[in-house]
Amino acid sequence: MDLTIKLNELPPEGTVVELDVSVQEINERMARRDAPIQAAAPLTGRIEVLPAGGEKYIARGRIQTAIRTGCDRCLEPFDWPVAEDVVVMFVPGEPEAAEEELEPETLNEEYYQGEEIDIWPILAEHLILSLPLKTLCREDCPGLCPVCGQNLDQGACRCEPETGHPGLAGLAELRDQLPSQSEEDQ
Ligand SMILES: [Zn+2]
Ligand SMILES: [Zn+2]
Repeated sequence: MDLTIKLNELPPEGTVVELDVSVQEINERMARRDAPIQAAAPLTGRIEVLPAGGEKYIARGRIQTAIRTGCDRCLEPFDWPVAEDVVVMFVPGEPEAAEEELEPETLNEEYYQGEEIDIWPILAEHLILSLPLKTLCREDCPGLCPVCGQNLDQGACRCEPETGHPGLAGLAELRDQLPSQSEEDQ
């Protein structure tokens, strides 16, 4: 879908873009940015674009989609739900160096040139930033058994008896019989 706003057609009260970007289009657009993001649901929501005076424009709204990712503990693929508020000020001028985008005071500013504003880059940025460094399929995902690699989310394995771990209990006993670390150092 067309995600550009033609500024000479923008009424003083602004306009609202009803978003409906298909999974395929998100992924094609992301591939063009070299962003390793795979959408799992269409991008929906609405973005309001309105003049803010002095050739500045505010884009604000809320977007929803889902991103296909993998659980950091059990490694199973799952869809990370995304619901992000968007508030960005478009200011006329040259885009700055990429690293400056990470500074908090410039995070919500985007540069535009000419008579059009493309809202896709800010949507893409919100999608990319919505993914945390660690993604868990659920908060208490038990992950994989360190011994046999069984996904404990799909059932217990035989390495883990119901009452404690005999090997670990044995180690604890052994440790109690040894002099403690601090005594040894003296
Ligand atoms: Zn998991
Ligand atoms: Zn196991």
